[in-house]
Amino acid sequence: MEKTLLTQPYLPPLEEFYPYLEKIWKSKWLTNNGDFHKQFEKELAEYLGVQHLSLFTNGTLALVTALQALRITGEVITTPFSFVATTHSLWWNGIKPVFVDIEPRTFNLDANKIEAAITSKTTAIMPVHVYGNPCAVDKIQEIADTYGLKVIYDACHAFGVTQNGGSILNFGDLSVLSFHATKVFNTFEGGAIICKDEATKKRIDYLKNFGFAGETTVVAPGINAKMNEFQAALGVLQLKYVDEAIDLRKAVAEIYRNALKNVYGISFLDDLDGVRHNYSYFPILIDEELFGASRDAVYEEYKKNNVFVRRYFYPLISQFPAYKTLESSHPANLPVAEEVTKRILCLPIYPGLEHDTIVEIVQILLRLQLQFSEHCEIAELI
Ligand SMILES: *Cc1c(COP(=O)(O)O)cnc(C)c1O
Repeated sequence: MEKTLLTQPYLPPLEEFYPYLEKIWKSKWLTNNGDFHKQFEKELAEYLGVQHLSLFTNGTLALVTALQALRITGEVITTPFSFVATTHSLWWNGIKPVFVDIEPRTFNLDANKIEAAITSKTTAIMPVHVYGNPCAVDKIQEIADTYGLKVIYDACHAFGVTQNGGSILNFGDLSVLSFHATKVFNTFEGGAIICKDEATKKRIDYLKNFGFAGETTVVAPGINAKMNEFQAALGVLQLKYVDEAIDLRKAVAEIYRNALKNVYGISFLDDLDGVRHNYSYFPILIDEELFGASRDAVYEEYKKNNVFVRRYFYPLISQFPAYKTLESSHPANLPVAEEVTKRILCLPIYPGLEHDTIVEIVQILLRLQLQFSEHCEIAELI
């Protein structure tokens, strides 16, 4: 079949972007809190339903800066089941990551296992709303309050996700978003930190601009992580289309769910009560014994058929060389994550994914299972 990738970035009609470019060319203001930056920051905060938001050039620098903003040091409890940037942001701050296992339903950090990992050096928790499914935010906050810890959510998958009508980004001390090309909402690359008060936003804004608080005043050793006008202009335009894009993703997810609900050995999560999902990914868990083929066999079969599915997240972050020797990286400490990482597969999902292509993607899976059951029957006859 035609080459199909896991995702395809959503882009607005090009003609609609030209006037934005003309404005930038005319003003000759390319970065440093320009008009589009101001407009996007305001409109995005309104769209997301959050109080304070600071734009970044990408999600990783936003994570690194979030930790700086709260002066996090020592040890931070986090999940091994995420994109590497979550843990890398700790490393770049000289912080020791302490991995805690995930829970089997949402694949998010298991709140019930956090307390056992707290030491006198723990200063914060960095959970991830994996695939945009909300973490156990109340339980995590309760633990943080009890032990005096900060909570920084890596919310890079959770753009636009709400729970009981409120943004998921309002939990914890800070939440971090990514607008990378592969995310639900993109500005080519981009990111943001969501915070709760004006003073914190001010500090974050200084930090992303070398620490400048005035022409000759540098209040902290900041970095350059500003969003430029090109990204911000695209962001303003993309906001007009994001709801439509999420609806289109939802339609894809519904086709998959209908087609896969009775397939032996394949499981997936349905919509959670009270949650507005963004359908950023369509992860399935493959039970090799019941399905008849391993996750990696399915992955290879897809590749042979020109479908480039992804094993998000495999390997676990705790298995990469920089982190492998940490005590908390030991597989015995992370039994659920170790199991999930072997069985998880993300199927293609994006707004323009054609119905026929989805059907073909499902058929590849069904054919593979059929091959297996025929093998079994032949084996039984012999
Ligand atoms: C995409 C992503 C990041 C990094 O964001 P960039 O904008 O690509 O730097 C961090 N964490 C998670 C969970 C992500 O999915």
